Amino acid sequence: MHPRCRDPGLTQLTEDRFAFGGELLPLEEAQARIAQTFACRTRVEMVALRDALGRVLARDILAPIDLPPFANSAVDGYAVRHSDLLEDRPTLLPLQGKTFAGHVPGAPLPAGTAARVFTGAMLPAGADTVQMQEDCEQRDDGVLIRPGIGMGANRRLAGEDVARGARALEGGRRLMPPDIGLLAALGLERVPVHTRLKVALFSTGDELVEPPAPLAAGQIYDANRAMLAALLSRLGAVVEDGGILPDDPDLTQGRLRTAASRTDLVLTSGGVSTGESDHVRAAIEAIGELTFWRVAIKPGRPVAVGLVDGTPLVGVPGNPVAAQITFSLIGRPLLDRLSGATYQPPVRFFARSGFAHRKKPGRREYVRVVTDAAGVAQRYPKDGAGILTSLTQTNTLAELPEALTQLSPGDPINCIALALLHG
Ligand code: AMP
Ligand code: MG
Repeated sequence: MHPRCRDPGLTQLTEDRFAFGGELLPLEEAQARIAQTFACRTRVEMVALRDALGRVLARDILAPIDLPPFANSAVDGYAVRHSDLLEDRPTLLPLQGKTFAGHVPGAPLPAGTAARVFTGAMLPAGADTVQMQEDCEQRDDGVLIRPGIGMGANRRLAGEDVARGARALEGGRRLMPPDIGLLAALGLERVPVHTRLKVALFSTGDELVEPPAPLAAGQIYDANRAMLAALLSRLGAVVEDGGILPDDPDLTQGRLRTAASRTDLVLTSGGVSTGESDHVRAAIEAIGELTFWRVAIKPGRPVAVGLVDGTPLVGVPGNPVAAQITFSLIGRPLLDRLSGATYQPPVRFFARSGFAHRKKPGRREYVRVVTDAAGVAQRYPKDGAGILTSLTQTNTLAELPEALTQLSPGDPINCIALALLHG
């Protein structure tokens, strides 16, 4: 028997990179082409801080004040001069003054005394260290401070978080709740952000219908448009719903062209493969130019990126899991680029594989897994590119490198938290 015949699986393990004629683009190269080919399409507007969540900061924000604005206590306790403390035994210091948060100390701290202070209260001039009240003994004649406290303990210095004039946030950042908190702490009421990107969204396919229409034989409900609209709105885009395009080349070209003339980006799903009814890629070639259309990832190899009448267009594959993953890995960097946002690849973390897996070399594969608290990743049993529950019942994508062919239980794997892909 020929050695290969012993394991029928082996015959499948041929290089995946050249399938369907022509080489596939590695993911990072596709992302680099996006950065080279496309530019920001937005303007700058000022918005109230309360409306700024998720918006893209248009400029660096320099701190107009020190944060915190003044030296203050991090605890409820007693403020002292560190040089007054004995090194080897408790120090009794008479009490002199009391300051609450929001109030101003009456006088500088006299040498050889302690001042009662509360969390957030200004430190009296001269005080450099605070001992928390739980570690002190308050007596009639003063407060007994334990030895061993470090110089500057429990003191927050003016400007220690952000110094006045320093860069607090970088332009290009999508504002997250802590960013909003920081901007508020700096006293900013309005912030410069990029205007929202206008995105035309289409599904393609003769088989697609929308509720409340009942399903006729051979039909399915359109999952992608709702999912992609949700992803887009999380990214702050304004969605122009183009509906469902039938598998018709002339109609596809006409509708894409009209959409391109009215929006900043056209996003389609389906129809980018090599089948007879796949008209999106052909339409881009006919009425525009294709930047690339095949990327070395699985699921989601066919993903078309190009320009129609100067407007960028991205066509993700129709299978919903492939649509989500290619949107996140290709559509998102493109959308960020057009929106003035700095694309941040999702942070990877390490987990241990709880499963064995074989793959062809040549493509980076994204396997849907559940990672537990011990850092072990279990594969979702159904992994087809159309299995939507493989995204709803899992929490992680395991990212298997191009060259890998065999994964064994216990092997370390690169992982991406699924929540990070959802904007
Ligand atoms: P396509 O990429 O057009 O060849 O479609 C690949 C698979 O995805 C087919 O099984 C389609 O029926 C399915 N599909 C395409 N578009 C959608 C959609 N919007 N919602 C759900 N499934 C879709
Ligand atoms: Mg189709």
